[in-house]
Amino acid sequence: MIYLDNAATTKVSKEAMEAMMPFLQGQYGNPSSIYGFSDTCRKEMDNVRQTIADGIGAKKSAIFFTSGGTEADNWALKAAMEMGKAAGKCHMITTQIEHHAILHTCQWLEKQGFEVTYLPVDEGGMVKLDALEKAIRPDTMLISVMAANNEIGTIQPLKEIGEISKKHGILFHTDAVQAFGHIPISVDDCHISMLSASAHKFHGPKGVGFLYVREGCRIPPMIQGGGQERGQRSGTENVAGIVGMGKAAEMAFCRMQERIEKEQGLREYLIERILLEIPYSRLNGARGQRLPNNANFSFQFVDGAALVLLLDMNGICASSGSACSASSKGTSHVLRAIGLPDEIGRGALRLTLSEETTKEEIDTVVEVLKRCVGMLRGQSAAYRDMVCRRRRK
Ligand SMILES: *Cc1c(COP(=O)(O)O)cnc(C)c1O
Repeated sequence: MIYLDNAATTKVSKEAMEAMMPFLQGQYGNPSSIYGFSDTCRKEMDNVRQTIADGIGAKKSAIFFTSGGTEADNWALKAAMEMGKAAGKCHMITTQIEHHAILHTCQWLEKQGFEVTYLPVDEGGMVKLDALEKAIRPDTMLISVMAANNEIGTIQPLKEIGEISKKHGILFHTDAVQAFGHIPISVDDCHISMLSASAHKFHGPKGVGFLYVREGCRIPPMIQGGGQERGQRSGTENVAGIVGMGKAAEMAFCRMQERIEKEQGLREYLIERILLEIPYSRLNGARGQRLPNNANFSFQFVDGAALVLLLDMNGICASSGSACSASSKGTSHVLRAIGLPDEIGRGALRLTLSEETTKEEIDTVVEVLKRCVGMLRGQSAAYRDMVCRRRRK
């Protein structure tokens, strides 16, 4: 099997798995218990908080463990707007290309009476800063812009967005689920008030993540209960998951630059070969400003879902659009936002690499892809018409 769907989820690293094992076995104490047996759990969770905080230049006390990216996103938006309501600020700004964890939370907020502006993006998938500034109103409470897009990998200008937020005294949340552990982020440099991340996107286990909340920004809790996470996120902690996330974060940060270069090199090789060897193909998303492991293509006259199934029959895991929208037909909301017409957008294929991806795997994928795209085009009436028309000319 060749796994090129690392934006959907990643393999748990051996190191993360080994770090978790004791907490699934002998170290089963409840971290809230006061006897010595639970000390190890508490201490280990404390270390993870420090590792993660160090990774984004934050204070340890600003990290709150959650059940993953979706929970962190929900919490950040709902809590900020709850505070906004109390202050008479019922408007927030986000983008058209956010993950559904943000977009569907925004729709829910709209049903509760809040107002949301969904910023458009340019053809490369970048937020336009002048449009952002124009969208700001006296009652704007929150700006939420993702750090990097999960479909086309575009990295947003966080620093500039943070500066605008700061200038206007508006909270700035970023969904960094695709970015954390993959590219450097500093919450101070970018004036980030809240940041979401998820372990399973950086070789940690599923069902665990965190929300960074800047000191002094006392957001209300989303889950009430026994008062864990300093009263901000109740529920007995997922100790093994948290420890696995900590190990994965440690590994992600200690070899980040090396990994970025390796993934980027292979990714560029993949892009060059595909654009050169497969006609009527295009790269979606800005070529420069993108996650090192992301490539997103459109193949005209091809249905993305059919292509993914054909690749699967050849032992290749890939995705059309995102994992979450894989079952919905048509062009994804992200590809629509960058202006792709449906006949091109529906032929999208996302290939996301990992550090373990090899050149041999990329070569295999390109060869299989050429065959599969050719096969699907052979069945496309539109493609045959186009070829005939060109021959007649
Ligand atoms: C995966 C993802 C999420 C959801 O995170 P989960 O931990 O799977 O809930 C949110 N935002 C983005 C950008 C993602 O890629």
